Amino acid sequence: MRVLLVEDDQHLAARIADVLRAERFAVDIASNGEDGQHLGDTEGYDAAVLDLGLPKVDGVSVLRNWRAHGRHLPVLILTARDGWSDKVEGFRAGADDYLTKPFRVEELVLRLRALVRRANGHAQTQLQCGPLKYDTQTGAFELDGYPLKLTALEWRILSCLMMRKSAVVERLDLLEHAYERNADVDSNSLEVMIARLRRKLGYDLIETTRGRGYRLVDKAS
Ligand code: CA
Repeated sequence: MRVLLVEDDQHLAARIADVLRAERFAVDIASNGEDGQHLGDTEGYDAAVLDLGLPKVDGVSVLRNWRAHGRHLPVLILTARDGWSDKVEGFRAGADDYLTKPFRVEELVLRLRALVRRANGHAQTQLQCGPLKYDTQTGAFELDGYPLKLTALEWRILSCLMMRKSAVVERLDLLEHAYERNADVDSNSLEVMIARLRRKLGYDLIETTRGRGYRLVDKAS
């Protein structure tokens, strides 16, 4: 799970990013509308958190431009306390949810998880692939009924595969959803991660589609 955070209040942005990273999300921060616009246009994110009052380009324009450019990622807007007209404008521009400042970052996390789940077409909160279960509300994985311990990177890769269960996730797509923009990524880093995940899972659930990517599938069913 990788999130774009567009927020010019550096203190707030750092606080949000800390909580998201503690929840194992990858986070890229843009501190003005222009940079946010560019990142949303060019990188792969599961969701964006977009402040509306931004330097250079305002949030509503950023959102309108993303939508005009065919970027469909779920977007949660951050509005000021009496920003009723901001909310209306934000939703008209294509926002999926909003939070009014000040808010609890824990609530932001819950809303983001729900947005990403729905954007992937899942009405139910629990996803399953054979012996593997994923709780989209807590981000917890279970294997054969026992908690599965994963590093942040392993979690991002496995949750991405789980969200798109049965579909091939292209290599580049998977990399984009697992790593932050400035991360140091070796050419075989993804393969190493997949090998580790396979060992942890024990079951043959991750299928390689040669030259394309990976697919989470329960061959026993
Ligand atoms: Ca602001």
